[in-house]
Amino acid sequence: MTFPTDIAGLYGIALPTPFEIGPVNCYVAEGEPLTLIDCGTNTEETYRTLVRGLAERGHRVSDIRRLIITHHHTDHLGLARRIVDESGAEVWAHPLAVRWLETPQEARNRLTAFTNALFHESGVPQAQIDLMNQTGQYLDSLSSGSVPVAVRLDEGDTLDIAGYRWMAYHTPGHAGDMLCFYQPESNVLLASDHLLQDVSSNPLIEAPDTPDGERPKRLLDYLREMQRIAALGARIAYTGHGRPIDDICKLVESRLTFHQKRADKLYASFDGQPRLLYELTKSMFPTVPDVQLYLTLSEVLGHLDLLERDGRVTRELRAGLLYWQPIH
Ligand SMILES: [Zn+2]
Repeated sequence: MTFPTDIAGLYGIALPTPFEIGPVNCYVAEGEPLTLIDCGTNTEETYRTLVRGLAERGHRVSDIRRLIITHHHTDHLGLARRIVDESGAEVWAHPLAVRWLETPQEARNRLTAFTNALFHESGVPQAQIDLMNQTGQYLDSLSSGSVPVAVRLDEGDTLDIAGYRWMAYHTPGHAGDMLCFYQPESNVLLASDHLLQDVSSNPLIEAPDTPDGERPKRLLDYLREMQRIAALGARIAYTGHGRPIDDICKLVESRLTFHQKRADKLYASFDGQPRLLYELTKSMFPTVPDVQLYLTLSEVLGHLDLLERDGRVTRELRAGLLYWQPIH
């Protein structure tokens, strides 16, 4: 359940989640202030596992002084409120995560309003949209509620973790508020879900960062930020799920190839005709169950953004429907 890292005073605890991805890794940084990085979903099983993992090294939840949230997904922040209530810990997170921590219902409503409009114009049937909204509510039910953010962490900030000086990197992609932390002397990276050894982390559809902003193109962000992080040359990355990564450049290389191939396959699936996002998603992932539709729509939309960037498709709104058109 707990596992060591190459940094003395920094260890991981794998916490169970109800999600297909399996356990989420949170990290305990000893020394002043006792810090927890990410905290799992708000279930009794997760909480008990966290308590046991802390106790292995003589800590209690009430000893935690700082809780760093790497991004706003439920498996990383679900227990935040419960931990803060018990310990009075300060919460540190990226500015874009603040709405998910302080006013989660408002953040959810904002996302839902945006995705409902996007999915309508993408030809997604109403029953499927309703199902995705229910899934959103289920995710929110795995969070313990709102907490104030004490410190907003952003690109270029430095902070002490486990007695070492770390640099914060803002790496939008899998999530727009994703933070990675790099320790130059030991050449160690805390990558959260930005890079995962065993699965390609999916850049999810998000609402614009500002009310009148454009839809963020998270796959394009992701491809750029993966290369930027690979260029640090870290020798090991501890991640949000699964094993650490010991060959980051090779992994990033394979992820870039994967996305290019998927984009090529998507381009071929147009068969020369204008298509809706929903139609393309169904043809790319014919057997994926409907509960995962948000994930597959996100992935296909990401690859459409990539094809558009490369001048291979255009889009056109016709009678309220958004058609993607291949360029020959
Ligand atoms: Zn995540």
